[in-house]
Amino acid sequence: MPDQYQVLRDVFGYDDFRGDQDQIVSHVIDGGDAVVLMPTGGGKSLCYQVPALVREGCAVVVSPLIALMADQVGALQRLGVRAAYLNSTQFPEDRAEVERAYLAGELDLIYIAPERLSQRGTREFLARGKLSLIAIDEAHCVSQWGHDFRPDYLALGELADLWPDVPRIALTATATRRTHEELTARLHLENARHFVSSFDRPNITYRIEPKDRVKQQLLSFIRSEGVVDGEPATGIVYALSRKKVEEYAAFLASNGINAVPYHAGLDRQVRAGTLHRFLREDGIVVVATIAFGMGIDKPDVRFVAHVDLPKSIEGYYQETGRAGRDGLPSIAWMAYGMADVVNQRRMIDQSDGDAAHRRVQSQLLDAMLALCETSTCRRQQLLGYFDQQIEPCGNCDTCLNPPATWDGTVPAQKLLSTIWRLDHEFHGFSCGAGHLIDILRGVENDRIRQRGHDALTTYGKGTELDARQWGSVVRQLLALGIIAPRGDYGVLTITDKATPLLRSQQTLMLREDVKAPARSRTKPAR
Ligand code: ADP
Ligand code: ZN
Repeated sequence: MPDQYQVLRDVFGYDDFRGDQDQIVSHVIDGGDAVVLMPTGGGKSLCYQVPALVREGCAVVVSPLIALMADQVGALQRLGVRAAYLNSTQFPEDRAEVERAYLAGELDLIYIAPERLSQRGTREFLARGKLSLIAIDEAHCVSQWGHDFRPDYLALGELADLWPDVPRIALTATATRRTHEELTARLHLENARHFVSSFDRPNITYRIEPKDRVKQQLLSFIRSEGVVDGEPATGIVYALSRKKVEEYAAFLASNGINAVPYHAGLDRQVRAGTLHRFLREDGIVVVATIAFGMGIDKPDVRFVAHVDLPKSIEGYYQETGRAGRDGLPSIAWMAYGMADVVNQRRMIDQSDGDAAHRRVQSQLLDAMLALCETSTCRRQQLLGYFDQQIEPCGNCDTCLNPPATWDGTVPAQKLLSTIWRLDHEFHGFSCGAGHLIDILRGVENDRIRQRGHDALTTYGKGTELDARQWGSVVRQLLALGIIAPRGDYGVLTITDKATPLLRSQQTLMLREDVKAPARSRTKPAR
């Protein structure tokens, strides 16, 4: 049997292992279980592919990425590795051939979709051959409260009992303590060694700005930053809904950007075509829901843009992590606003989950909002979420351009007392941000007059701020959970967290919104 260094060199053509790879590979070859937390692009695949070629028998690789299996297996076959896959997209005769080869001991790796591995038939079939190891890729999918939960992953815990002597290695790029603990327990990896890499992606610049006219903001971002040496760069734009994906793709295309939509509602062939183009052509901007991305290894994605707030920092980290896998400078850009917070909080309130589930979702959102509103280093905040401490990075918007903070206590009190008074003096009348701001700014319009809101003591008492600044106050109070949306769209109410502010027991420092950066350093190429 060749050793791991020979395999690395002769099969994969690399001189050295990277980071923890060497140790992980040795550990698995020696028959140990492993839990591997490594960022996207860190080189997780080799951690099981090399042991698969050193150990006797065939390795089973569980992966949820059915659409990519053919590609992954094809790449291995081109290196001369005896690899195959089993999934639902296959013709029965192809499946039969893979099964024959496995039983004949002619395979080193076999990729299997999780739903197949939970079937008894598949397990019985695998038991008739010799397994070298079991690799569970994208292992965070077992986490019910994570961002990519796949029910079929839950059954993978049983593999420990079925094959107690076969080493198992679980891999993921999701690094929160909760996911880590959860996958260790659910996959029965209690005796595994844990390998946790640094999650920093120093070549990615993080930038988050308040939403104003978001389509224009996106367009000018792409025109100025989505250009490398005068050529349009490859990028991904994430939006939450299919409708928005279509809308943004059309908008960008009509402005001369080579943009295409991608979401789960599109025909399978259209999606495959888009994926194919994205992987092989340069300068394409894919506008997508989160259905696009997991496992896509395109090294030169120069930017990832978010036009909607992700539901969690894990999600944000995964999505932005698709930029700059080649290590070259890349940008993660996001615009977020009041409506994002309102929508997300409402979605959580109206979700089917039980109270505990909603509480977790709400904590995930709070952490995401804290990242948006931080006035210190974004990367510090981001990595801190994954329990990793770093110095201020010098490569994020808050480091490069530290935002000013200001004492927002008095404006916040005015806003809160307006909401309180509407609630108490106007028979539970509630309203959205726009109307509140109109009251504070003393706007004269029919809605205010007809409802008698010009009689409120706070009417016209907020002229020290303009409408945009008030919007920023509302957004930050929402982010801090001091006010919250109630019931119907956009209606705001105060929460318990408002009490110390209303009693003047707390000062509230707010972030000064940085205006969108000046346009175009580089001339737009399109
Ligand atoms: P991950 O699955 O962690 O996102 P991959 O396994 O796809 O990362 O690896 C990312 C890239 O790095 C791939 O192009 C891979 O070929 C390359 N790579 C991985 N390990 C090494 C190594 N030891 N030396 C050189 N390149 C490597
Ligand atoms: Zn920073």
